[in-house]
Amino acid sequence: MNRPIDNRTDRTRRPSGRSPGAGRGPATFTAFGLAAEAEPLPAGLYVVATPIGHLADVSLRALATLAAADAVLAEDTRVTKTLLAHYGITTPLVSYHEHTVGSTRSRMIARIQEGQALALVSDAGTPLVSDPGYRLVEEAIAAGIRVVPIPGASAALAALVVSGLPTDRFFFEGFLPNKSGPRRARLAELATIPGTLVLYEAPHRLAASLADTAAVLGDRPAAVARELTKLFETVRRGTLPALAAAYAGEAAPKGEIVVLVAPATAADRTEDAMASLDEKLAAALGRHTVKDAAALVAGETGLAKRDVYARALALARLAQDP
Ligand code: SAM
Repeated sequence: MNRPIDNRTDRTRRPSGRSPGAGRGPATFTAFGLAAEAEPLPAGLYVVATPIGHLADVSLRALATLAAADAVLAEDTRVTKTLLAHYGITTPLVSYHEHTVGSTRSRMIARIQEGQALALVSDAGTPLVSDPGYRLVEEAIAAGIRVVPIPGASAALAALVVSGLPTDRFFFEGFLPNKSGPRRARLAELATIPGTLVLYEAPHRLAASLADTAAVLGDRPAAVARELTKLFETVRRGTLPALAAAYAGEAAPKGEIVVLVAPATAADRTEDAMASLDEKLAAALGRHTVKDAAALVAGETGLAKRDVYARALALARLAQDP
């Protein structure tokens, strides 16, 4: 195989005329023992997804983009060097991480404005998804630069589709706070989200984090997806309390982990809404008559005045005669 791979998005536009990887000869890569030549890239910032484990989980367009770019901005250049070497790509690497200073970002923006194509990758999966890149994309857009997605693997979606939990609606949370107090507080905020929760977790924190998740979210179905696309890929499914108990009794697992939690049921949501209504009414009843407290809370919550009044009356009676 030696036909150029056309990696342009907009096929009506011709590339800038710059030879691919200027000064480096033709941009090529090899896959499965076959060599391919990549078309030149128009100037822009290319956000390129890379594998989350299995090196074959990378698109042909991603390889062509990495080969034809003037530079690859990488979170850890050593990690990306291994991927590029695997596919025979010799594009120069530049370090780009969360703490990259503004002046470096400005230099990268300037390079693109001068006509270069820069590819952004992270250590694994899709850049910007719990990974660096957001500020660069934001600044590139502000500078009128074309930002091009080269989609591919992400642990969140890979885990979701094998979790067995609802996929019609999901909420990507990424990493929860490390400490138990803030973690429980954040989980309480997530409790009523009507979609599957997708959480990233470090292996040494998994048991503690599952215990907090079970304590706050209760008896919901959940899954722990570990080492996806790698040799020791496992998906463990069960209720949150059962998974929390299982991991509490074992040595910390090795590898990379995604935790998924089923959405709150309608009954959970009703219970939460009732608890929140009672809390608001109790506060209002401390300062107002039953009628005024009910009117105030009905206005605040948008609930029907008659229902809120009935609940306020019941709470007031309960307070008088517990
Ligand atoms: N940008 C990446 C993506 O698109 O998925 C995520 C980067 S984040 C720094 C790394 C976290 O992703 C890991 O701690 C783990 O929670 C999850 N992760 C990455 N690769 C994984 C894999 N192969 N199996 C399970 N989880 C993985």
